[in-house]
Amino acid sequence: MTLPLLIAIGGYADVDAVPMQAACDVRFLMSPDEIATLPDSDRAAARAIAYKAHAPLNGAAMDLLPELGIISNYGVGYDAIDVDAAQARGIRVTNTPGVLNDDVADIAATMLIAQCRQMVPASDWVRTGTWASEGAMPLARKASGGKVGIVGLGRIGREIADRLAAFKMEIHYHSRSAKDVPAGWTYHADALALAEAVDFLVVALVGGPETQGYVSAEMIAALGADGIIVNISRGSTIDEEAMILALQTGALRGAALDVFMGEPDIDPRFLALDNALLLPHIGSATTETRAAMGALQRQNIAAFLAGDPLLTPVV
Ligand code: NAP
Repeated sequence: MTLPLLIAIGGYADVDAVPMQAACDVRFLMSPDEIATLPDSDRAAARAIAYKAHAPLNGAAMDLLPELGIISNYGVGYDAIDVDAAQARGIRVTNTPGVLNDDVADIAATMLIAQCRQMVPASDWVRTGTWASEGAMPLARKASGGKVGIVGLGRIGREIADRLAAFKMEIHYHSRSAKDVPAGWTYHADALALAEAVDFLVVALVGGPETQGYVSAEMIAALGADGIIVNISRGSTIDEEAMILALQTGALRGAALDVFMGEPDIDPRFLALDNALLLPHIGSATTETRAAMGALQRQNIAAFLAGDPLLTPVV
């Protein structure tokens, strides 16, 4: 039996590559630019893309694959894929929502606590011998009982809010519409009003052009000099230039960031900021969750190839 041809783009380990190869004839690439280097016969036969890269996947790349029917993204954020171009070509797009909510929310909530309580500098204080030579660290900022504003109360945003509510925080949120939430949570239709009302902002928006710079210089100023921003969404959702300036000048107390513009080649000014906690996009990076994401990606491809309804379609 001839297996359907799948192009897997973006660096897959055996945990995903082996089951892919059991179901499909797979060509592994690192970036969409390499599609053009495939033999004509492979490009003519390709039915599906399993996408794990972060480089833009645009209509020109799709046009190299006349039989392409599905792009199955590994991750809930699919902003690297030109969904309009896919839709215009009748190509389905899927993502992996839900299975990573807990891990990303765990990271976001703990980043906020860690940044308030200066846990990473505190660890360095011990490791460098400063504790022994200089004594106690400067005092940190209280986290429990603070007012936190979630920017984007979607699947992950809601899980973050639930966790921070357990830290006795007052929950405020901004979304395009009010949600069904526990009594006492405050909805702000206006994002700037949210920033004015809270001590901390946690950003859980989708990425992409529509949310570019959503957390604006005005919002950062409104949060104030004692404010802390956590971002687990995409680097693009915050005015990064304004945030760096505010961190440099003390107009913002701190930031805890899992995502950056241009990652992994982040703005080098971040590296000099001792009031920024910097993580290498590890929100969903556990063995268990990555396995679940890979399985859901493959299930969508299998459903497409079988002519069954897709499990988690974007379009
Ligand atoms: P979701 O359920 O779709 O929630 C997305 C949120 O973004 C919603 O609150 C939504 O607002 C808001 N939003 C969407 N389009 C908008 C627009 N044009 N203007 C303003 N707000 C808009 O998605 P999710 O599953 O929670 O995932 C959120 C994002 O987290 C992903 O897209 C991804 O970028 C990021 N993520 C990061 C990691 C990591 O490792 N750091 C891992 C997974 C996901 P409404 O409530 O008004 O609809």
